[in-house]
Amino acid sequence: MKLENKIALITGAGSGIGKAIALEMGSAGAHIAVNDLTAETAETTAHQIEDLGREALVIPADVADSEQVENMVQQTLNRFGRIDILVNNAGVYIPQDGGVTAITDEAWQRILDVNLNGPFYCSRAVVKDMIARKQGGKIINISSVQAEVAHFDASAYQPSKAAVVMLTRTLAVELAPYKINVNAIGPGAIASEGMGASLGPEVIEAYRKRIPWGARGYTRDIGTVAVFLASEDARYITGQNIYVDGGYLSDSTPTELKSQDHPVPPDDPDPK
Ligand code: NAP
Repeated sequence: MKLENKIALITGAGSGIGKAIALEMGSAGAHIAVNDLTAETAETTAHQIEDLGREALVIPADVADSEQVENMVQQTLNRFGRIDILVNNAGVYIPQDGGVTAITDEAWQRILDVNLNGPFYCSRAVVKDMIARKQGGKIINISSVQAEVAHFDASAYQPSKAAVVMLTRTLAVELAPYKINVNAIGPGAIASEGMGASLGPEVIEAYRKRIPWGARGYTRDIGTVAVFLASEDARYITGQNIYVDGGYLSDSTPTELKSQDHPVPPDDPDPK
């Protein structure tokens, strides 16, 4: 197993992509500290990790609060003695109907607090121990295709994710001497429980037609890449942002022209 007996702290692991990363890492042999805003959702993930035969620790905390983050990292260290892998997954997407003129100070601040300050606070707290232990480590940030391309009514989310990509590079350079790999994964449209489920059927169909693969991705599509980046197979990869988007960012074909020149593929139902 690629992550046998590794200790992973995963934020926002109570649902969606974070939960899938936790389950994939658990299946690969890691013990998991499961963070989420509330204990309730984190506990469901933790039970599933234990069913895989691994240990799980539930830590409710708001990643936007640096004191709570320090406390979360300390609790993980108290229980497991070390943290080998940090996954900064927790994120919020608050749609801003009306665009830039409609966004409130509170919404702007909350999105930056969770999506950007959160990964910074968690990384800062975890690397203190990683550096002191001199055993290296892995940090994986979850960015988005929206770090590269804009979308209506997401004027705070996009800058927050673009900044996560630069934070990834900054930390990668600074932490390379300590053999700490820092990378990001940029999901495209993923059928997750939270953000992914808030879209109506017409919006989902519109995305399906826009994505060369012909379907949204599944949460475990992100989980399997996270396992790779956390494994020794990726030991020489650092500072990268790997897009997992079914070809979305590579395709500039207008949707109307696709039906003539490049037919939309059939849907790609979840085989599980
Ligand atoms: P999700 O299903 O809503 O899951 C996010 C999880 O993070 C939830 O369990 C949420 O808890 C938790 N969370 C939110 N704020 C938190 C905080 N301040 N501290 C700790 N936990 C917090 O969303 P997702 O789709 O899996 O998204 C996960 C990550 O992928 C995010 O960073 C998102 O930006 C990124 N992403 C998603 C997509 C997509 O299509 N789904 C695409 C690109 C990027 P509550 O449920 O209690 O709020």
